[in-house]
Amino acid sequence: MGIDLHDILCPLCSNQSEDVEHTFLKCSWAESLWTRISQWWNIPTPNFESILGIFEWLDKCRETELTKEIMKTTIIANINLIWDHRNGVIFDKKEISIDLAFVCLQEQVAFWIDVTSA
Ligand SMILES: [Zn+2]
Repeated sequence: MGIDLHDILCPLCSNQSEDVEHTFLKCSWAESLWTRISQWWNIPTPNFESILGIFEWLDKCRETELTKEIMKTTIIANINLIWDHRNGVIFDKKEISIDLAFVCLQEQVAFWIDVTSA
């Protein structure tokens, strides 16, 4: 009896073992979303190595506090979205397209801006 390789492989791509960095940053689905975000923000896609690295990068960004708050909200919403998508694929066999995911993300961020600026 050994470890069944399929149990540790990423359920989305089956290419790599599933760990935090792979799931949230390196898996092609997640990577595509980060790329969309950087295009939206009009910045080069940063090459994040860890979740902590994202927030360290954000800290060093030369942006206004408000912009950074919006960026932080987007990042957190994206991490949440990636996790929801992963669980949807595993438990409900439901995959959503990057296009749809990105629209959801933008809606969440717009909603947050609305709520906090009221
Ligand atoms: Zn993967």
